Amino acid sequence: MSREKREIIYSVIILLMVPALLVVNTSVIVSSVRRIYDEDIRLKADMANTVIAETLRQSITDKDYEEIENKLADIQKQAPELVRLSVYGEQESVIVSLAKTPDTPEKISGSISMMIKMVIERRQPIAKYESIETDKGVIKVWTVSTPLIDESTNKVLAVVNSGLNVADSQELIDKVMQQAAIVTIIGIVIVMALLFRYLRFVEYARLLARQKEINQTMSDFLSVATHELKSPTTIIKGYISNAMEDPENPLSQDTKVQLAVALAQTDRLNNLVQDLLNVSRIEQGRVEYRLQPVAISEVINLILNNYKMIAKSKNILIKYEPDPSLVVYADAGRVQEIFTNLIDNAIKYSKQGEVTISHSVKDNYIATSVRDTGIGMSAENRKRLFQRFYRIQSEQTKNISGTGLGLWIIKQYIENMGGSIEVDSMPGVGSLFSVVLPKAR
Ligand code: ADP
Repeated sequence: MSREKREIIYSVIILLMVPALLVVNTSVIVSSVRRIYDEDIRLKADMANTVIAETLRQSITDKDYEEIENKLADIQKQAPELVRLSVYGEQESVIVSLAKTPDTPEKISGSISMMIKMVIERRQPIAKYESIETDKGVIKVWTVSTPLIDESTNKVLAVVNSGLNVADSQELIDKVMQQAAIVTIIGIVIVMALLFRYLRFVEYARLLARQKEINQTMSDFLSVATHELKSPTTIIKGYISNAMEDPENPLSQDTKVQLAVALAQTDRLNNLVQDLLNVSRIEQGRVEYRLQPVAISEVINLILNNYKMIAKSKNILIKYEPDPSLVVYADAGRVQEIFTNLIDNAIKYSKQGEVTISHSVKDNYIATSVRDTGIGMSAENRKRLFQRFYRIQSEQTKNISGTGLGLWIIKQYIENMGGSIEVDSMPGVGSLFSVVLPKAR
């Protein structure tokens, strides 16, 4: 069994122990309440019977059985929870009934007879918890037999018997039991709900672990695949360039055009591979940042130099006023990648117009913005712009190639160097990307 499974089973057992303990606790409490109640009622029954016996003492001494019977009836009238009030005596070793209330059976049962004999012998009261049948059905009673002892002769004059109906207290206990059961059931339901939630959390944790594993595999795959792709494309590019520039084998114009397309497509493939490689490096935390003072204008000028031709061919005017005093604290290579991507996009997503690069200084930061008068984008698209592989799909972008990785990559670079990037844009008007980087001291 795996460790994970064992841990789940262990936790489930612990969680199930909570309702189990609730049940045990409730039944222990209920049974002790019942015991205390029973004891209390027995004492009451005992006391009541002693009082009855004393009330009857004179009539018993006088053997006035009619009077006794009247008194018993009176007592029962005033205390209806008392049942089977009776007085017994012993005549020639046989237990006989001397007086009784009408609810007492005529026949003296074997058990009553034995109980009375025991009371006479021990000269002590005896209490017994029993179920008896009455005209109202079966009821539970505490039956107490109390000996009435003649103080002068020290003989047992008679035994007074009475039963105390415990139905009321039974009802009370049943109610307590019911409430306890309800609380226990609620407790069990809550614990079950917790258990269910817990199991879902376990499932989430498992999925998260799995996702991490998949991410790692994907990252590893990207890393290997891009490395493997990079070398053949570099070789292809080399051969195409050689063929195009070989003075000994001049090519026809047609072939030159075809090879130029092949070269451009190889470049495109190269860019994709480079982007994928960067993504995998970022994800594995393998990007190195050699932070140092970098004159930002120098970097921008260098990039603009490379884009002069293409901008001209698209009738795009590039506006930039370099400021050599501006120095950011960043990795020179990354800064070049960041602004290459932004300037490339500004030209790529403009049909014509202007691309303006400008700087501003605020506190310890230098903001560099790249503004274009291109196709722009909606607020909805702007929200997802920095997600991996996100490309705006529209009639205007469908013929523009790209990977949707550039902005995600540069955002990681910028943030890892302590900066930030923001975008503002309007469809049909243009876009403004603003990069803030720490100023060198
Ligand atoms: P790529 O350009 O390779 O598709 P990016 O991550 O650089 O990937 O850009 C993501 C998407 O953002 C692009 O596909 C494009 O739709 C949109 N985008 C980026 N820059 C601009 C811009 N200057 N003007 C309009 N849309 C842009």
